[in-house]
Amino acid sequence: MALPVQPRTIVAGVTVGSIGAGLLVSKLGRDVDADANAPRAVFGRGPAFVSLPLQCSEQVNHDTKRLRFALPHEADVSGLSLTSAVLTMSWPQGRWLPAVRPYTPISAINEPGVLELLVKQYPDGKQSTHLHSLKPGDKLLFAAAIRGHQWVPNSVPHVTLIAGGAGITPIFQLAQGILQNPDDKTAVTIVYGVNTDEDCHLTEEFQRFENEFRDRFRIVYTVSRPDESTTLRKGRVTKKLLEEVAPLPKGGETKVFVCGPPAMESSLVGTRKEKGILEQLGYRKDQIHTF
Ligand SMILES: Cc1cc2nc3c(=O)[nH]c(=O)nc-3n(C[C@H](O)[C@H](O)[C@H](O)COP(=O)(O)OP(=O)(O)OC[C@H]3O[C@@H](n4cnc5c(N)ncnc54)[C@H](O)[C@@H]3O)c2cc1C
Repeated sequence: MALPVQPRTIVAGVTVGSIGAGLLVSKLGRDVDADANAPRAVFGRGPAFVSLPLQCSEQVNHDTKRLRFALPHEADVSGLSLTSAVLTMSWPQGRWLPAVRPYTPISAINEPGVLELLVKQYPDGKQSTHLHSLKPGDKLLFAAAIRGHQWVPNSVPHVTLIAGGAGITPIFQLAQGILQNPDDKTAVTIVYGVNTDEDCHLTEEFQRFENEFRDRFRIVYTVSRPDESTTLRKGRVTKKLLEEVAPLPKGGETKVFVCGPPAMESSLVGTRKEKGILEQLGYRKDQIHTF
């Protein structure tokens, strides 16, 4: 997942201040009492420094887990704005500096009591390995929310969301946020490129969206190393595929959001030297967003 400017800056800032944070965390880190009686947002605009226990985790394929954390009170909500990630911190053994990494919750922004992450483990990845090692009851420190592109309901009649591999989390968050808002009538097309069939995540959730929002939700999966028996499209996210499944709508009123590995993002969005596939298809630069 390519790092956008804003999270990079925040991550750098938090990392620079991490030794201080490490010393302060026992004061700032708080296990919020479970006796608050009104629903409240756990993440506001400033630091959160809230330590949340893992409720359960589920291995969903060879390298990815779903991790459900309990919010301090069962009526609490994350209160994240659409779209947002959360900055997590841990102290790997034998290291001075903490690992500080953002993750994009897949639980609905207003879902009470839980914060759910979908985390891919990278070989020797500090934070992803730590998250995969957590057992129910273990706690993880959430330092703050990081605001991404702030979605305005009905700002365009249609959006195309393009995800590659683990880049599905912000794409899912945005699709879910649009579809679960009864005042938002935006139509959503997702193009989801993965390496293998088993890398397709959140398929049950997407199936539910397809059943419930037949007239305005569609997802197209494409697999670059498909199983012989695959029923999905084969290959990468190419210009030809996008021409077919996500052409620029008549009138051109749309936005396209991309989140995937750097090579995929630069082929779609372009580089300083070269126009990307999306511009070649007629999308204007200001209609194209990365997370
Ligand atoms: C805004 C934002 C939201 C994110 N949301 C999610 C999310 O919801 N789920 C999720 O799983 N990840 C997400 N990420 C990525 C996540 O923050 C970490 O970068 C990732 O978990 C790797 O961290 P690590 O400490 O395990 O690996 P590191 O210790 O930083 O790296 C270890 C090794 O893994 C390789 N590596 C690290 N990251 C990547 C990568 N993205 N692609 C290929 N190789 C890599 C490194 O090159 C290195 O060799 C998000 C990133 C951003 C910027």
